[in-house]
Amino acid sequence: MQRMEVLKSIRTGMFIGGELMAARSGKTFAVYDPAAGVEIAQVADGDSEDVGMAVDIAKHALEADAWRRMPPAMRERLLLKLADLVEAHGDELAALETLNQGKLLGFSKMLEVGGSAQWLRYMAGWATKIEGSTLDLSLGFPPGVRYQASTRRVPAGVVAAIVPWNFPLLMAVWKIAPALACGCTVVLKPAEETPLTAIRLAELAHQAGFPPGVLNVVTGRGETAGAALVCHPAVSKVTFTGSTEVGRIIGAQCGADIKRVSLELGGKSPVIVLDDCDPRKAIEGAASAVFFNHGQVCTAGSRLYVPRARFDEIVGGVAAVADSLVLGSGFDERAQMGPLVSARHRDKVVGMIDEGRAQGGEILCGGGAAPGDGYFVKPTVVANAFCEPLSLVRKEVFGPVLVAMPYDDLDEVIAAANASEYGLGASVWTNQLDKALAVVDRIEAGTVWVNSHNMVDPALPFGGFKASGVGREHGKAIIDAYTETRSICFAY
Ligand code: NAD
Repeated sequence: MQRMEVLKSIRTGMFIGGELMAARSGKTFAVYDPAAGVEIAQVADGDSEDVGMAVDIAKHALEADAWRRMPPAMRERLLLKLADLVEAHGDELAALETLNQGKLLGFSKMLEVGGSAQWLRYMAGWATKIEGSTLDLSLGFPPGVRYQASTRRVPAGVVAAIVPWNFPLLMAVWKIAPALACGCTVVLKPAEETPLTAIRLAELAHQAGFPPGVLNVVTGRGETAGAALVCHPAVSKVTFTGSTEVGRIIGAQCGADIKRVSLELGGKSPVIVLDDCDPRKAIEGAASAVFFNHGQVCTAGSRLYVPRARFDEIVGGVAAVADSLVLGSGFDERAQMGPLVSARHRDKVVGMIDEGRAQGGEILCGGGAAPGDGYFVKPTVVANAFCEPLSLVRKEVFGPVLVAMPYDDLDEVIAAANASEYGLGASVWTNQLDKALAVVDRIEAGTVWVNSHNMVDPALPFGGFKASGVGREHGKAIIDAYTETRSICFAY
């Protein structure tokens, strides 16, 4: 589906209790096509009143027999049906994502649509495998009485899911699929920049047969709708993906309310090239680690560490790849990199490049915005040959900007890689297993890739050390995030 066609399929309302609706206030906000820099829709600007209604409906749906008494196998079937519908509407969803987020259409198809279907199916399988245990107790009181006990995993309750704009559909599915598999109900708040696919996802869930109110979408701003959702007393669990800055606010609020919370936050992931690496693989790998999704990836490999003797060869190679990338609309088949999500984000990224330049970083390629109406930034490689304390080395850019540093020995590079407040991802590039393991063992990161980067999978736990977050998504561990343990004790 192409741009003009998908423009006609845009839904602009919130999806609450099985219905599309405007905000109670009647207010709307604009969403844009970042490749053209033009407004494409006015979407409902939900506030605390709309959030209150959505949470009340989600709470009601949680307690209604249609959901509470639904056998796990039926929840599994609904999630599988939703996966089928996501695929069946794949062309539309992918085009909508490319239109609103800017990513290349091929990636929208493969990752947003294909990945979402994959995650839904994987999580559907967990619905029938949630189990407790039976326990023999040791203490007997009063005398003559015996006890037998068991545990059950019960749904955590109403889940508030707040997601960012870099993978709008996939991030929404990362939250809703396990929450629904566990029997929770959900109020999802997409990012204000990219609400369109989340609204369609909720419509498709309704079409799949999820009872009204089980999955709701409130579109709105972070400080209003998002904050109201986090604070709502009927929300039992908050799951948030976004910046560390907002994660701190949400974590503090959930702490004050004693509310369950998972935080998937920012990163400044190191790419460590070892001296024995295959240069072709290391160059391609380092370029893809940082430029994939235009650098708007929480695990983007935005710090490159290269042995001093190979610095010019490897970093020059990455700069050559960056220079060759063709920028363009995600709908243009020739494009290899699309725009950033918004004018505000483009300006922030360009400001950080300027700051790096002013602090002494050597711009090897790129170095600013690309001309035109869209929010394009040229893929940029900054050499930091003397390992100056550039802010680019510390701060998350969330754009196509790589800073490269030389090193002399393994201890030095491990210390440099770990000298970050973040700890989300890291990769090491080598052909020697013992060297790879030596790095893997010492890196402070939730995921360490060897000879790859940014590889995620529904079965593989994902999350951060340090300021990159609290908790893990995916895999078996996710069941704990969306259920509570209830202990049941029988006296006889
Ligand atoms: P952001 O923190 O600005 O916004 C994320 C979401 O939070 C949006 O829906 C926003 O409306 C909402 N929000 C903002 N303020 C809020 C508040 N006070 N209360 C409640 N909700 C609020 O992040 P962003 O700019 O949309 O996304 C980029 C960030 O997300 C980067 O830091 C990136 O690393 C991070 N991210 C992390 C992961 C991960 O899995 N660790 C994945 C993707 C993105």
